[in-house]
Amino acid sequence: MRNGLSVDVEEWFQVGAFERTIRKDDWDSLESRVEYNTGAVLDLFGETGVKATFFTLGWVAERHPALIRRIVGEGHEIASHGWDHRRVFTMDADTFRADLRRARGVLEDAAGVAVTGYRAPSFSIDQRTPWAHSVLAEEEYAYSSSVAPIRHDHYGWADAPRRAYRPIADADLTELPITLGSLGGKKVVTGGGFFRLLPSAVTYAAITRANEEARPAVFYFHPWDMDPGQPRVTNAPLRSKFRHYSRLEAMAGKLRGLVRKYDWGRVDQVIAVERETLR
Ligand SMILES: [Zn+2]
Repeated sequence: MRNGLSVDVEEWFQVGAFERTIRKDDWDSLESRVEYNTGAVLDLFGETGVKATFFTLGWVAERHPALIRRIVGEGHEIASHGWDHRRVFTMDADTFRADLRRARGVLEDAAGVAVTGYRAPSFSIDQRTPWAHSVLAEEEYAYSSSVAPIRHDHYGWADAPRRAYRPIADADLTELPITLGSLGGKKVVTGGGFFRLLPSAVTYAAITRANEEARPAVFYFHPWDMDPGQPRVTNAPLRSKFRHYSRLEAMAGKLRGLVRKYDWGRVDQVIAVERETLR
């Protein structure tokens, strides 16, 4: 079964964990690593022959249009990760719509192709944002992969379905929630720090189980997840630092193993298959 491979393209300083430590006004003065790191991801995918979806911030696309062209040129999907990593539950419907439009405009200009997919920063579509899927449908997105059907300290919509579903009855929009793994009886999202910090077998178990239940898995990580050379934020909370910096040097090797073990593709392709079953 084909699973969705995705990369959330953002800078090392644009993560929720550092939002109280690093001010947005300072972003342009910090060392940019995203082009180099995403280049390494593209090299790894090229080496293994896999195609993926790159959910990219508009803020990044505006500054690195050549990177966007390279992603598209190598056969991957460009999708939206919003403008500047503002989480959806901190916005209202109008602000969300403006954020979507601004990001899509810049992404499509750089990519030269239509953007039809969206991933909310930090899986921030949940019970606090009952309008979010309607706005995405009105903006004619084909799919979203923005929900974590889980309870977590930063995010989660525990009551959401675990397989692809149509969140709006009379719209074609498909939501493909992030795949969950299990750790000591607790549910966790597969990807990112979870994958980096824990043995790969924990993630493999989650993907195998999803596929056994005829659910495609969706896996995600960030370009900075495989960058041991990124600057260190020393005054962030200890837990954030642990999550962000542990085992960065192991990530590339672990990813190669993961990519070879399962059948992976772009999320828009996975969605196209799922839509047939939702009709
Ligand atoms: Zn993100």
